[in-house]
Amino acid sequence: MPARLLDGTAIADEIRAEVQPRVAAFTAKAGRPPGLGIVLVGDDPASDIYVRTKVKSAGESGLRADLHRLPASTSLDELLAIVERLNKSEAHDGILVQSPLPASMGAEAERRVFDAVQPNKDVDGFHPLNVGRLVQNRPTLTAGTPSGVIEILERSGIPIAGRHAVVIGRSDIVGKPMAMLLLHRNATVTICHSRTQNLPAIAREADILVAAIGRPAFVTKEFVKPGAVVIDVGTSRVDDKALVERLYASGSKRRDVFEKRGSLLMGDVHPDVADVAGALTPVPGGVGPLTIVMLLRNTVIAAEQRWSESR
Ligand code: NAP
Repeated sequence: MPARLLDGTAIADEIRAEVQPRVAAFTAKAGRPPGLGIVLVGDDPASDIYVRTKVKSAGESGLRADLHRLPASTSLDELLAIVERLNKSEAHDGILVQSPLPASMGAEAERRVFDAVQPNKDVDGFHPLNVGRLVQNRPTLTAGTPSGVIEILERSGIPIAGRHAVVIGRSDIVGKPMAMLLLHRNATVTICHSRTQNLPAIAREADILVAAIGRPAFVTKEFVKPGAVVIDVGTSRVDDKALVERLYASGSKRRDVFEKRGSLLMGDVHPDVADVAGALTPVPGGVGPLTIVMLLRNTVIAAEQRWSESR
């Protein structure tokens, strides 16, 4: 029996509908909407799409979203000055600096910038103070993608406590916070990475398998215990015709999309996994929509907190 598809778009709509009255209530009492300052440096096409989607989505939900576009030649000091301005701004409750930053800014740039964002405006949950709070299971602003995964699991009625969760990927923005959130919900968590030995065998022990790698179709059937819940965080734009033809039958929807656009958004999970898994998030339409809506929710939470602290 093919896996149950976990519809991220529908779950994101549900959360958006819950956020809406909070946005309205905040706007009424504060005399301004919750505000989000987004900074995009350089001209990475994927980042450009992500940022535009975030601005549009914020606007549709009644938030104020200001996009600061900076050329790739921007210096780290200039970027830090903009972050500082947003830190001081009364109108902005959340600050997001789109990753990745141009390589020319240097290897430490991202950390320096994330460290500079005021923790109570850190709607991406990347500041070390917020990461520490997450590790200690205290209330905090938590990274959107892993929080979105938890929403998918919980709202789909998938039990987490006592289950074995395997997370493939250990990045600061997905893998590590994902593992923490699962641990705090009493899963037994294994974190895997590029140096993990016997990866398919370890993954096969998972009741909940989260793939956050960035390698299209890497997780094949042999990684998946029959009936397991598989969450595909990966998003890679693929223009390799041979790969797409190998993965998707001629005449299938995905092949049609590829033929029309010349590229395909693909997850880390091989399409055949649908024959083995109990439940599966699609790409697109799985984790992606949650990442955006969790950002909006974090901005509203940050706005509410700043408002109550200022009273
Ligand atoms: P990342 O920083 O590049 O981290 C990738 C992780 O995968 C690393 O921990 C790496 O291990 C591990 N890895 C790489 N190759 C591996 C292999 N052969 N076997 C086992 N582990 C391997 O990426 P990220 O920022 O976490 O993002 C991961 C994916 O999620 C990307 O496709 C990204 O586009 C996607 N993403 C999606 C959303 C969304 O909204 N849907 C949001 C964020 C990210 P090492 O640590 O050992 O190098």
